[in-house]
Amino acid sequence: MTSLAIVIPYRDREAHFRTLFPRLSAYLRQRHPGLDFRIHLIEQAAGKPFNRGKLCNVGFALASEQYAQVCFHDVDYVPVDADYAPVAGPTRLIWYGAHLQHRYDLYFGGVVAFPNADFERVNGFSNEFWGWGFEDSELRQRCVAAGLEIRYRDGTFEALPHAHQGFGPAGALNVTAERNRGLLKSRWRRLATGEAQRHDGLTSLRFRVASRHRLSLRDAPEALHVTVEI
Ligand code: UDP
Ligand code: MN
Repeated sequence: MTSLAIVIPYRDREAHFRTLFPRLSAYLRQRHPGLDFRIHLIEQAAGKPFNRGKLCNVGFALASEQYAQVCFHDVDYVPVDADYAPVAGPTRLIWYGAHLQHRYDLYFGGVVAFPNADFERVNGFSNEFWGWGFEDSELRQRCVAAGLEIRYRDGTFEALPHAHQGFGPAGALNVTAERNRGLLKSRWRRLATGEAQRHDGLTSLRFRVASRHRLSLRDAPEALHVTVEI
């Protein structure tokens, strides 16, 4: 059976990880017996704004030699009824439980899975989206530009609550999110030609591992917790 690296981009959400870790491990063992999976908790060291895409790239770089497929998994979605079986291309595993404002076909965040070769083919995520938003839309566009079909599995997840980091109190995008939106817009044409992704992604990824250790849980494969400076 195909092996799966679960990559969780992470910082300052300890309560969420404590909830997710045992439940996701138990879920995978029960729903997919025999699936060779490992949870990789990829924590961003303090300092810079959070960069979800870059952390996912780091997780992929650390795991892809040992695992055939990767699932990028937000820390705040706990599976209730979801299918983590091997995917045939870029696949969104979540729908129910995700934020209601998303558009069904365009939403490509939360919990998505790739065969390694497809993630490599699009050169991974951009490393340049700092702070909340739009790295997931950019990744989707990389797939479209590469001619990869986006697949959808409408899994049901429990969303763990947190204050929203992309919108202000009035519901408008904050300054950082607006900047990321502008970045995506400004490179839209160069994504279509493949130029934007050629020099920004797995091939330009630089990071330093600050610490690395194993987390254990009874009956579950150990998770790997890696803290990185990016
Ligand atoms: N994240 C994190 N710490 C942060 C911001 C984001 O760990 O300060 C991770 C976490 O896995 C989270 C994901 O990035 O689920 C997406 O961020 P967030 O939940 O804020 O975005 P949403 O999808 O809720 O808009
Ligand atoms: Mn969230």
